Amino acid sequence: MNIVKFGVGDTLIMKKKHPCSSDAFRVLRAGSDCRIVCLGCSRDLTLERRALEKMIKKVIPQEGNAE
Ligand SMILES: [Zn+2]
Repeated sequence: MNIVKFGVGDTLIMKKKHPCSSDAFRVLRAGSDCRIVCLGCSRDLTLERRALEKMIKKVIPQEGNAE
């Protein structure tokens, strides 16, 4: 099983689209609870990290985000 790595500022592509038809969300907070905002309609939601990880199809790292 893959470990999904993401951090604040990264963009997440979800397996399931939001009702607004966007499938891209930006990470606002990454902890045991994660806060993400929809890039289509700007609504934000808070999810448990484990639940969120199951929803992610792809992680697009923030540009210029040097570790
Ligand atoms: Zn949306």
